[in-house]
Amino acid sequence: MLRLQAENAEQRLHDLLVNNPLAYIAIDQDWQITFANRQAAEVNRKRMEEFVGKNIWDTWPELIGTEVERQYRSVMEARVPVQFEFFNPLIAAWFEINVYPTREGIGFYYQDITQHRRAEEDLKKSQQETERQRAELESLYQTAPIGLALFDPVEFRYLRLNDKQAEIVGLPPEKILGKTVTEIAPIDGLHEMFCQVAAREPVRDMLLEGELPMQPGVHRYWAVNYYPVYAPDGSVQAITAASLEITSQKRAEMALIQSEKLAAVGRLASSISHEINNPLEAVTNLLYLTSAHPQIPEEVQGYVRSAQNELARVSQIATQTLRFHRQTMKPTWIGAGELMNSVLDLYQGRLFNSSIQIHAAYKSTGRMLCFESDIRQVLNNLIANAIDAMRQGGHLLLGTHDATDWKTGRKGVRFTIADTGHGMSREVKNRLFEAFYTTKALNGTGLGLWISRGIVSRHRGRLTVRSSEKPSKSGTVFTLFLPDSKDSDIPER
Ligand code: ADP
Ligand code: MG
Repeated sequence: MLRLQAENAEQRLHDLLVNNPLAYIAIDQDWQITFANRQAAEVNRKRMEEFVGKNIWDTWPELIGTEVERQYRSVMEARVPVQFEFFNPLIAAWFEINVYPTREGIGFYYQDITQHRRAEEDLKKSQQETERQRAELESLYQTAPIGLALFDPVEFRYLRLNDKQAEIVGLPPEKILGKTVTEIAPIDGLHEMFCQVAAREPVRDMLLEGELPMQPGVHRYWAVNYYPVYAPDGSVQAITAASLEITSQKRAEMALIQSEKLAAVGRLASSISHEINNPLEAVTNLLYLTSAHPQIPEEVQGYVRSAQNELARVSQIATQTLRFHRQTMKPTWIGAGELMNSVLDLYQGRLFNSSIQIHAAYKSTGRMLCFESDIRQVLNNLIANAIDAMRQGGHLLLGTHDATDWKTGRKGVRFTIADTGHGMSREVKNRLFEAFYTTKALNGTGLGLWISRGIVSRHRGRLTVRSSEKPSKSGTVFTLFLPDSKDSDIPER
């Protein structure tokens, strides 16, 4: 009975081995294959009788010298089970092999894990690829030259933003996150746009303009795009925003229109000056003949002389205007004092009427190389501003000196234009070089100093200002330093 049970158990064990989904092979101490199950024949693509009863190394000589031989021999000797993975290059397949010591020798289970390994590798690859794409997107997000941000679709709070967006706002990212879009940018129409996006209607290429709290008093412009981000169920789960600051483009655009208008006026002035030259000459000659006539009374001769003087001034103005407008392609040599006077000439009438006294001290020697009409324009802007600041009269101090720039050690010429006018507040001083910044309402364009700064930097010079509003000694001093330059130093326009 007991034997029967034992026989049954052996039979069951045998059946289990034969039908096991894992391949199983048993070997005796002489490396003879004593048993193999059906799966083993299948995995090895051999019929049972081709290898059972044969020597393992004769059957699979390709295993000699491999990891497999090493492991089998170690189990045979040490009698300790091992598990290892092995790649069989002949059939390009991976196996997991479990080796056990048996009474007669060793036995091993093995299974083809090629599919499994491939799936694992594919998964790893796709994880790496996802990670790579994420890193790529992240770096794109952070380095993009436009402001990018993500908002919740209900309260429109900042969920995420890149550095550029923080730069536009003018606050560190941690001070922006969690705030609503209108807390950060209280701009007309912005909330409505976000409501529109939350209702699934994107906002494309809209122009926004206004002031941000971090930079009060500065009117700025942005081109913006707002899009809904959809959840898998089709609801709006967030709002993305891409903003491009276009303030400087807008300003340049407006400056261009304005300067085009000014240039047209300039051309008109120069053509008038040109046209009146001939009649002026005729009148000059006629007045000369009149003055030389022996029969005119003393009193009339006085009138004629005054007329001649005034006429000389008219010619002077006409010539200066012409010179002003002449655009030179190459820089020319000119004396600093001469340059200053040629500008001053244009204001004789205005200065006379406004009871402003001129004090000129031209101490610079030599001549300097510059785009004459450009520097004349700068001096003109500075002198015009000084006169504007002295409506009640005052003193205009003009000077030129040979000088050395304290900052760079370069030698050159320093022009000073100082007035005893009303001076400037800190706010004006901070902003006077901005395009369109003027305190003169309709009488100013706000372009004078902006253009001047551009010209000066092209000449590698420096334009600085000091000003005081103190009642007893109010006034402003502009200093223009132009370094000595060679022909090649000044870039052409
Ligand atoms: P605009 O003369 O058309 O106003 P500018 O660019 O020449 O434009 O000057 C900008 C502003 O700077 C002026 O509106 C004025 O407020 C201030 N400003 C410039 N020069 C002087 C000065 N000499 N004294 C006082 N304020 C000045
Ligand atoms: Mg001006």
